[in-house]
Amino acid sequence: MFPIGRMSLWTCRRLIAPGVLLSRRCLSSGGGKCPGPVVASRILAAIDFDKTIVARDSYLVVSELLPAEKRGKKLDDLVKRCGWMTYIETVLKQLYTEHKVDSTAVGRCVRLIEPVPGMMRLLRQLAGMPQLDMCIISDSNSYFIDEWLRDRGIADLFCAVFTNPACVQSSGELLVLPFEDQTQCDLCPANLCKGAVVQQLIDTGVYKQVVYVGDSCNDLCAMRHLRPVDVACIRRGFELYGKMPAHGRELKCRVVSWRDGHELDANLLPIILA
Ligand SMILES: [Mg+2]
Ligand SMILES: [Zn+2]
Repeated sequence: MFPIGRMSLWTCRRLIAPGVLLSRRCLSSGGGKCPGPVVASRILAAIDFDKTIVARDSYLVVSELLPAEKRGKKLDDLVKRCGWMTYIETVLKQLYTEHKVDSTAVGRCVRLIEPVPGMMRLLRQLAGMPQLDMCIISDSNSYFIDEWLRDRGIADLFCAVFTNPACVQSSGELLVLPFEDQTQCDLCPANLCKGAVVQQLIDTGVYKQVVYVGDSCNDLCAMRHLRPVDVACIRRGFELYGKMPAHGRELKCRVVSWRDGHELDANLLPIILA
């Protein structure tokens, strides 16, 4: 387990064991198990990071630190052929070895990404609900997410961040490692099945309702694990929303669409406060 401020970052699936509660109350009392039987009394808001909390794909933003001639089709094709992990590994390696761009400069770049409009207010509102826990499930990485959340002063709002762990070498080079190496789910990349994370959070038995907020196809697996009582919040005008005519029937949960944090606030809060 790698600490991120006062949050806990689970980098390994087996660390999420049934009965381990993720509420701030439990974490703040030492992170141990709560005594007594588990009662499904809480709400979990599990939120994607790129293009859901922050307005852009963090990996694409960081790739823009490379000179224009180093970007383009060849780099884009890497995402299609090998996935985002290979993409960011390649970008960070090039930035460091060829352009002397270290973790400090990368962090500075990430911190400049704007939030999705209205999202900061919504996150603070959700965090203020005593019955609600918030976590991030993201295919970005712990360094980018931590840099951004701390800069905005909202790191403490989240109980946990499930993402690819990153580490800064003594040289200043930033390395990103896979969250896992899974072969169970062919909908997700090998380095992270968001659906497996959501399922294990549901299996804790703590949550009477799970709200999952995301924008892209890598959020579909997570949403497929939601129960009829749960809510999938799909960003309108973005990748996953466009696929819903084909995939909508795969979801058992209630679906809410949103364009920005203001609209999500208006559409989601009446449901979870009902
Ligand atoms: Mg996203
Ligand atoms: Zn999956």
